[in-house]
Amino acid sequence: MSPNEQNLNKDDILQKTSIKEYIDKNWSVSKKSGSGYKVLCPFHDDKSPSMHISEDKGLYHCFVCKAGGNLVQFIKEFKNLTYPETLEEISNFFNIKIPKSNYKPNEDLGLQKKMYDFNNKVSQFFSRCLLDEERNSKPMDYLKSRGFSREDIEGNSLGFAPDSWDSITSLLYKKKDASSVALSLGLITKKEGQKSFYDFFRNRIIFPIKNRQGNILAFAGRTIGKDKVKYINSKESEIFSKRRVLYGLNNFNKLNGKKPKYVFIVEGYTDVLMMNKYGLYNVVATMGTSLTLEHASEVKKISNKVILCYDSDTAGIDSSFKNIEPLYQFGIEIFSLRLDSGLDPCSYLERHGREKFIDLAKKSSSIIDEYMDYLKDKLIEKEISINEALDSFVSKIRYVQDYIQRDKFINKFAASFSISKVKIESIINKEFIRADSPKQSIPTNRILSPEDIILKVFVEFPDSRDSKSINKYISIISPGFYKEMSKILLENIEDEASLIIGKIQDSGMNAMFSDLIFIPFDVPVELSARVKLIKDCIRKIELNLIKDSKRLINLKLSKDVQISDEEEIELLNDLKNLIEEEKALT
Ligand SMILES: [Zn+2]
Repeated sequence: MSPNEQNLNKDDILQKTSIKEYIDKNWSVSKKSGSGYKVLCPFHDDKSPSMHISEDKGLYHCFVCKAGGNLVQFIKEFKNLTYPETLEEISNFFNIKIPKSNYKPNEDLGLQKKMYDFNNKVSQFFSRCLLDEERNSKPMDYLKSRGFSREDIEGNSLGFAPDSWDSITSLLYKKKDASSVALSLGLITKKEGQKSFYDFFRNRIIFPIKNRQGNILAFAGRTIGKDKVKYINSKESEIFSKRRVLYGLNNFNKLNGKKPKYVFIVEGYTDVLMMNKYGLYNVVATMGTSLTLEHASEVKKISNKVILCYDSDTAGIDSSFKNIEPLYQFGIEIFSLRLDSGLDPCSYLERHGREKFIDLAKKSSSIIDEYMDYLKDKLIEKEISINEALDSFVSKIRYVQDYIQRDKFINKFAASFSISKVKIESIINKEFIRADSPKQSIPTNRILSPEDIILKVFVEFPDSRDSKSINKYISIISPGFYKEMSKILLENIEDEASLIIGKIQDSGMNAMFSDLIFIPFDVPVELSARVKLIKDCIRKIELNLIKDSKRLINLKLSKDVQISDEEEIELLNDLKNLIEEEKALT
């Protein structure tokens, strides 16, 4: 039997093929660059080759649009094929046999469709309830008071969930199949140990949450009663994840394919709808969570600039600052637009109109300037020390990918806080590692955190992985990208990077992962040196954790919040322990 005729399993496919060869013959011939190859990126309007190919790793990555993956992912995206079609393409092009058992589709499309259909039906029911003003005019009155006409309400398929326990369950009457769908969508729920279901959304105005294609993924409900929780969302399901979905994306079709210069990110559903009403369709909101990496990757597909339009109160300012890291990680420029206090975009547009709003948007300032002012105020009020201000600043700007831009921010911070630039640079060099390798002409100046480095070592050298050290890593990092990736590594402990990337379901995580692999950083070849590097990075993460806890305790102790004597003793005791732990680590 010739090698070409043997039956391959899924993982072999990637090892018996060449991604460079496929790209060269089907797209454009790549040129040698550093240890890999470079080619024009087919996934964005590329003027000079931005896509890197690593033949050793069997991966591609574009540093501009963050497209990345293995051969299967390339063909799927490039030719817009389904998974089975992609396998067929590989089999034909490389003249290898792929057993039919590999052709199973990944997703349960049947269930997905059932869920969309069900949400659609329920949405129509909610709409009817809202429009039935004779029975209950309160929800309609509220929406009208916020400036929405009946046409706006119908056009956006807003709805109302009646103040009853069994509206949805009675829709399901005698349909067993439908109740299991309703249950998994979280539209109905039941108390533990009880048999009967009850409605999840009650006495709430309903905002359907749609994807770009217009399918309803979930609902958000705003109370019009006395419920303490103002907004609730459908629970997470096969089709809905808060970490990924942005509200308002379905209206991007109204831009008629024009790429907007920037995307507005606002706090509320009504803000999105009102901006749409005024002809501004480049606007999204998160579902009551901070912006995640997954959200940032969605935004990146639309534009390289965002304008955050959050409330001017403490909560609004705080949450807009939390968006800095994920957006910078995707190389997105961030501006901040603060409206007069008490006004959100919805009420501002109602009062002052579109032109004034756009004028303000054009004048919005860089978020990092605003962040520096914020730290300065905290410093003056003695809520933080100068070192803490510096730490916070560095943790935000380390993701700025444009080297000149980052330098500009550092200069500004140095001048404004009377700190020498050398000191700031030394903090960056001590806590993080700069990734730069001019010979490979990779357009990144990203600074690698200890979390990045550990993951990079684990991924690129399967022999550095053992469940004990991966579990140790998992135990000290916060939820999100690194934790999710570590779990995938644990389940595929011997797999190479090109196989690992195929197991990532999420496009944001995929982009982050691909970026990390292609960032040049010389991982030591010697196993013992790598083990030492990992240990060292773990120690740095632990020290940062201690620093954070100390900061929190000091804040509690210094604030004029009332705390009891017992609490104070406890806090001081915790602080003492932390200082000892810190000593042991340094
Ligand atoms: Zn690209």
